[in-house]
Amino acid sequence: MKSLKIQRNLFLILFLLATLAVILMLSSARWYYVYPEAEVNKVYRDSLVKLAIGAGQHRDMPFSAVLLYRDSMIGHGINTVIRDSSFTGHAEINALQMAFKSYGPQAFSKLNHDEMLMLTTYEPCAMCKGALCFYGITRVVFYKPKAFVHWKRDHVNELKYDLRIRSSGQADLQDSIIGLFQEKLGIAAQSE
Ligand SMILES: [Zn+2]
Repeated sequence: MKSLKIQRNLFLILFLLATLAVILMLSSARWYYVYPEAEVNKVYRDSLVKLAIGAGQHRDMPFSAVLLYRDSMIGHGINTVIRDSSFTGHAEINALQMAFKSYGPQAFSKLNHDEMLMLTTYEPCAMCKGALCFYGITRVVFYKPKAFVHWKRDHVNELKYDLRIRSSGQADLQDSIIGLFQEKLGIAAQSE
């Protein structure tokens, strides 16, 4: 009787693992990501190749990205992790940074981000995806899909992050810092 119960539990665990594996495999196929903006791709394909080769010359991985706004390029970037010893030096972040800098934070925020399109040679990582989502840039076209191993790592880390993140229970710290900052600003404004 006991061994039957163990067998049943084992079968259930195996079934759940197999279901999870199938879900992961199906998700990684990403067939729903094919984006038929062929004309845009053609125009900027050469730019992406030239940019990516430039990244390779600095021993960085040859990845590149361009940020389009109403079909005009407002930013471009290459991988500069090694060149600049920058852990945020991904092509997409650099393309965003270029546009952000040239417009300035206020003017950039006023643009209609739904009309922006990030074109990139390699599917964005979790960090670049986060930056794109943060700025509401949700139209992305990539050429090479991320390897399953990277996709899995990103998702596992995201899950671990969600499970491990904790609140200190002291939200007033940030509020008091803002209060102190405003107090200082008030004092500065008065002394001017
Ligand atoms: Zn990235």
